[in-house]
Amino acid sequence: LLDSLSDQAALAIERIHLAADIEKARLAEETDRLRQALLTSISHDLRTPLASIIGSATSLVAHGEELDAPARMTLLRTIQEEGERLNRFIGNLLDMTRLESGSLKPNADLVDISDLVGAALQRAQKILKDDKIETDVAAGLPMLSLDVVLMEQVLFNLLDNAAKYAPPGSTITLTARREGEKVAITIADEGEGIPPADYEQIFDKFYRVHRGDRQRVGTGLGLAICRGFVEAMNGTITAANRTDRSGAIFTLKFPVPPAPKVEALA
Ligand code: ADP
Repeated sequence: LLDSLSDQAALAIERIHLAADIEKARLAEETDRLRQALLTSISHDLRTPLASIIGSATSLVAHGEELDAPARMTLLRTIQEEGERLNRFIGNLLDMTRLESGSLKPNADLVDISDLVGAALQRAQKILKDDKIETDVAAGLPMLSLDVVLMEQVLFNLLDNAAKYAPPGSTITLTARREGEKVAITIADEGEGIPPADYEQIFDKFYRVHRGDRQRVGTGLGLAICRGFVEAMNGTITAANRTDRSGAIFTLKFPVPPAPKVEALA
């Protein structure tokens, strides 16, 4: 009986090993597939702006002297804009790498929200040139414990999306108010919004809502970086559609730091 039991045990162990091997092979295959998809996506995102830059530069070199000033300016502007796009993409990849390697250590600066909003709008001015901005920052908000650099990047990515996914000339609304022991910051636009089934998935790396031929350029990294940065600062970020009109609204929430203890006067 003992012999037959140990035979059975040996068989069971063998089966477990086999199942583990199959699982390992499946995981390796899946990782390989993901790595391949990532490489394809990255090469595409690097190649598209580079092709524009090389195309415009080649035209300038070949025909620069025959072109009139406005035509030359158009080509130069393409080179500048596509160069900036490449720069943003590489910045996003670096941010993502910092997040995933766990080397991100946010500072805990005491930040005034209206200063932060002002700085973010200043930085985003170039991409917001066609849009109207409305801000509604409640008076007397407490200072928050945040990393200014990361926060500016988060607001920049959200403003960039608001401008990108809404028609030019529409209004982007930025608000900040206190909600109990939290401060909520919202960024709302007047675009077509987000399919509710995608509210969570849009924060996944490389996830993009399929919009057919109205697809905008992008990498699908912006919101993943936002969520990574916000969570590293103990906050939350969620997406939804507006209820007052069409458009998306992103809500950030951060805890109000405990008030410093006032030493009792002896
Ligand atoms: P990207 O904009 O580069 O595609 P993001 O991570 O910033 O990457 O956004 C992921 C997806 O979420 C976008 O592809 C888009 O479909 C959707 N999205 C983000 N912001 C908005 C917005 N303000 N309005 C509508 N859809 C949005």
